[in-house]
Amino acid sequence: MKAYAITDIGRKRMMNQDYAYLSIEKIGGLDNLFIVADGMGGHRGGGFASRLAVESILAGVVGGTADSPQQILLDAIRRANEDILQTAQEDERLTGMGTTVVAATCCGDQLVVANVGDSRLYVADEGQIRQITQDHSLVEEMVRAGSLSREQAKNHPDRNIITRAVGVEEDLKVDCFFVKVKAGDRVLLCSDGLTNMLEDEEIRRILTEDADVEERARKLVRTANEHGGRDNIAVVILEPLSDEVSL
Ligand code: CA
Repeated sequence: MKAYAITDIGRKRMMNQDYAYLSIEKIGGLDNLFIVADGMGGHRGGGFASRLAVESILAGVVGGTADSPQQILLDAIRRANEDILQTAQEDERLTGMGTTVVAATCCGDQLVVANVGDSRLYVADEGQIRQITQDHSLVEEMVRAGSLSREQAKNHPDRNIITRAVGVEEDLKVDCFFVKVKAGDRVLLCSDGLTNMLEDEEIRRILTEDADVEERARKLVRTANEHGGRDNIAVVILEPLSDEVSL
């Protein structure tokens, strides 16, 4: 397995509220773990929420007692939800904070994915790129309801409004997906600071370039910045069935 994680502040923001995590080693009951979280709210709340979410998910995974990878992920994300809610209640400067989470683990050729918010997971190969997660965002809901086209959604002024986030409500609904991966597949977890700056096809081209995984992750970030870098950027690439191990 090859993997690389990187975040970047972008060109317009004063703080980086994105958080990316990877472990290609076993962690708790999972063989490996990959997370992107994109925080929101307040002066310091957003960055705090995304970091706390990842730390809380890791604690949840390590202490998890469920016997399936998806249940371990779901329990850990719900624990992060409770931890963020509680921390926000204890410190009024953090009121209103929340974060997206997209998390994935790979067991053999099966990828298990959980998400809340508009950070995404894609699977790409030489021929196509598939967005596995569905955004929990206002514009995505409007597109699904037929009141907005994909093209209109791209530059919609409300495209940053998310309809679900970790740490906002007690009753959190987490989506879960199962994807079969094959040798050569490239898996990408990323925040909207990447997907608002690059077309899916441009992402696919860079993901499948003949270069080191770190180089490709850095090129995705660089390209988002070249296109304006309006937001923080988080990128995690993993190649589950590649033989060599590298970080
Ligand atoms: Ca963002």
